Amino acid sequence: MNASIVLLPGDGIGPEIVREARKVLEAVASAHRHTFEFTEKLIGGIAIDETGDPLPQSTLDACLASDAVILGAVGGPKWSDPAAKTRPEAGLLAVRRRLGLFANIRPIVARNALIGASPLKASLVDGVDILMYRELTGGIYFGGSTASDDGTTVADSMRYSVGEIERIVRLAAEGARSRSGRLTSVDKANVLAVSRLWRKTTERVVQDEFPDLTLEHQLVDAMAMHLVTRPKDFDVIVTGNLFGDILSDEASVLPGSLGMLPSASLGASGPGLYEPIHGSAPDIAGRGIANPLGTILSAALALRHSLGLAAEADAVEDAVDAVLDGGLRTADIADGGRSVGTADMGDAVVEALR
Ligand code: NAD
Repeated sequence: MNASIVLLPGDGIGPEIVREARKVLEAVASAHRHTFEFTEKLIGGIAIDETGDPLPQSTLDACLASDAVILGAVGGPKWSDPAAKTRPEAGLLAVRRRLGLFANIRPIVARNALIGASPLKASLVDGVDILMYRELTGGIYFGGSTASDDGTTVADSMRYSVGEIERIVRLAAEGARSRSGRLTSVDKANVLAVSRLWRKTTERVVQDEFPDLTLEHQLVDAMAMHLVTRPKDFDVIVTGNLFGDILSDEASVLPGSLGMLPSASLGASGPGLYEPIHGSAPDIAGRGIANPLGTILSAALALRHSLGLAAEADAVEDAVDAVLDGGLRTADIADGGRSVGTADMGDAVVEALR
C-alpha cells in the first residue's frame, strides 16, 4: 500500500525517538513492499522558536492531508515561562482538536522481560494486557467554568451528550469484539447524572449493536482499586475524559516503565495521532540514551489503526518483545540486561523484524 505519514519530532528527546520509529517503519515498508512517504514538520517549542506558532499552518495542513501522524513530545524548560504568549503544549492541544481526535487509546501490556520492573508483584502483573479507551474532547475539561462575582466559589461543568458517548463506546466495543469480547465501562453513576446517561447509553449501544459482547460497569473509585489488585481481570475498558486521564496514568505504572508505553488518538475519520505517553525528557535530551520503544510501539499502533496493517503491527510488537527477551535495555529499564543507546535499540528492533 501507499501511505503518507507525517512525523512531528517536537522537543527534547522527540527527534531522537521519532528517528528510530521512522527506521522501523522503513524496515516494515521494505519487508512488506509498502511505500510510506514521510514528511517531517515542526510542532511545540521548536515551532515557536522558528515561526512564533506552536502549530504552524503548514504542519496542520500536512497532518490533515496524511494517513497517520507520529509525534515525539513537546515542551521543556526553555518554553515554560508562565508569562509567555504561547506554550508548546498549545500546539499539541490544537492538533488534537483540529484532527477531531475524540478517542485516546492506551494499550497497557506487561511485557514478559520487564515484569521485574513493575512496582507490583510479578504474580499480579504477569499476563496483564489491557486496552483503555478514554474520551478525549468532552467531559469536565471542556464543559466550561463559572465563578461567583467575588471569586470565592468556582464550578467546572461535566457535560456529555448522547452522541459523544455513543461514538467512543462504539469504538471501544469494536476493540473488544476484536479481542476477548469483554468490555468494562467505568463511571460514577451512583452520584453523577452525567454518569447515569453514560451508563444508559453504553447499555443501549452494546445491546443493540454489539449483543455478542459481555458488558460490565465499574464505579471509578472501585476501578482505581481493581487496577492494582486484579488488573488481569480486565481486557477493554472505556471511560470519560476525567476518569480516563487518572486511570490511564495509574495503569501506566503496571508495566514498569514510562518509556515503553504507546498511545493512539483517533477521530471519526482522517488520520490518527500516535505518540508515546511520556514527555520530552529534557533531562536526558541530546544524549542518545532515551528509550525509543514507546514511540516504536506507537508506530505499530499507526500501522494497525490508521493503515489497516494488523499483521505488520503484530510483527513490530513481536520484534520489540524479541529484543527485550534477548536482554537489550536502555538505561531507564536497566535491570542487569545489556545497556544500549537509542539508535542501537532502534537498530535491534529493525534487525529482529528481519
Ligand atoms: P517526562 O515524561 O518528559 O519525564 C519524566 C522522567 O522520565 C524523566 O526523568 C525522563 O528522563 C524520563 N523519561 C521520559 N521518557 C523517557 C524515555 N523515552 N526514555 C528514558 N527516560 C524517559 O515528564 P516531565 O519531566 O514531567 O516533563 C518534561 C517536559 O515534557 C515538560 O515540558 C512537559 O510539559 C512535557 N510533556 C510533554 C508531553 C507530550 O508531549 N505529550 C507529555 C508530558 C509532558
